[in-house]
Amino acid sequence: MAKEYYPTIGLEIHAELKTQTKMFCNSKNDPEESRPNVNICAVCLGHPGTLPTVNKEAVLHVIKVGLAVGGKIADYSEFDRKNYFYPDIPKGYQISQYKYPLVEGGELSDVALTRVHLEEDTAQSFHKEGEEENFSLVDFNRAGVPLMELVTEPVIKSATQAKYFAQELQLLLKYLGASDANMEKGEMRVEANVSISTDPKILGKKVEVKNLNSFRAVEDAINFELARHKVLLEEGKEVIQETRGWNEDKGETFSQRRKEESHDYRYFPDPDIPKLTLKEVKEFDLEELRIGLPELPSAKRDRLERRYGLKREDIELYVQDTTVGNFFESVSTLLTDAEQIKLGSNYIASDLVGLMNTGNADTHIKPVDFAQLVMMITRGEVSSRGAKDILKIMHDTGGTPKAIAEEHELFQESNEEALLSVVNKIISENQTVVADYHAGKTAALQFLVGQCMKATKGSANPGILQQIIKKTLSKEV
Ligand SMILES: [Zn+2]
Repeated sequence: MAKEYYPTIGLEIHAELKTQTKMFCNSKNDPEESRPNVNICAVCLGHPGTLPTVNKEAVLHVIKVGLAVGGKIADYSEFDRKNYFYPDIPKGYQISQYKYPLVEGGELSDVALTRVHLEEDTAQSFHKEGEEENFSLVDFNRAGVPLMELVTEPVIKSATQAKYFAQELQLLLKYLGASDANMEKGEMRVEANVSISTDPKILGKKVEVKNLNSFRAVEDAINFELARHKVLLEEGKEVIQETRGWNEDKGETFSQRRKEESHDYRYFPDPDIPKLTLKEVKEFDLEELRIGLPELPSAKRDRLERRYGLKREDIELYVQDTTVGNFFESVSTLLTDAEQIKLGSNYIASDLVGLMNTGNADTHIKPVDFAQLVMMITRGEVSSRGAKDILKIMHDTGGTPKAIAEEHELFQESNEEALLSVVNKIISENQTVVADYHAGKTAALQFLVGQCMKATKGSANPGILQQIIKKTLSKEV
């Protein structure tokens, strides 16, 4: 019998925080700066005798994240030195939090969290290796940028769940304005601790996979590791506890360093940074901060579902793309009827988003004009074909749907008298079809409606046409 394998995954996610200045100095925190070594000073270059000061804005971001995930915010916190030598860490240590993180516990997307703490980012190294030139360069713009580290409990059961968690965290950070968390730009970086075991109560040997810089890499690297461990165990071999990197091109992980080579960071409290008692800082009033939190993605999903009963895909679209989401919400406040709101949502999610993706990314449509168009559709004043044409014009150039419908003759003919003559003409020309209708063939009615639509060049309201045809034919009998 095939053995059952139980995967266990924990994540460590770093995110660069959005702040005016760096974590411990007044240098600008500007991820868009492309010139090297511009946003630097004696503090973030690690010159002797300089003193760090804690960035309040960065601490605030982490507290808000902690509140959003329902974690315990520390009464007391401190910063530690994590000692190691590397050219990207000019002081010879990184300032981080070890014993007293800002946040403990909490939960996001049914994944229990261990902690969230604050540290400083490192500088960036560039290596050039070639026949003629061989050198390394260091850019200190990133040195000392506030970095949040979030650690989950080892409770994730699949690569897909891990990817989903990372996506949800990214969304949360954006909603909170804490970070843009763009993975391609390295603003959010994921490390995964992966193990499998044949006994759900015992954890297998764990491997840490570093440098996962896209959601796809998170999923693929974890799946690769799980498959690799399984093969090793089936062959009766052991998984070696180690740190591995991810080779995107090959779609493989590779060994970076073994456990026996791992660093002893000799953490100790940074004597230069005052201890942090949160109560003593008026900006860190937890109750006020909790009230000030924006609506979070999970609450927004629930509300859109409860209030409007929208389709899952539409809800996800509005949660992920807040520009489109806000547009929907503005339109919905102008419509009174639940069916109108759902119809409006259909036009936004398919037609408007389609226009935004293929043409102008920014729409010229005002919510009030969009709502007007939806009402015109439900009143039968324009056909669905006409509505799409009007929408495109509104999107490209703006304007009210009424004016556009008039100018382009897109109003649907709903005037019964005007339509009656068309209906009479079509009926007299299609007597066999009329006989079929009287014989109970339902397709016959559709055919007559279609002929009338053709005769009016699509300007007629098919619902009203159908009523008139039925009425006329019932008089015939
Ligand atoms: Zn600086």
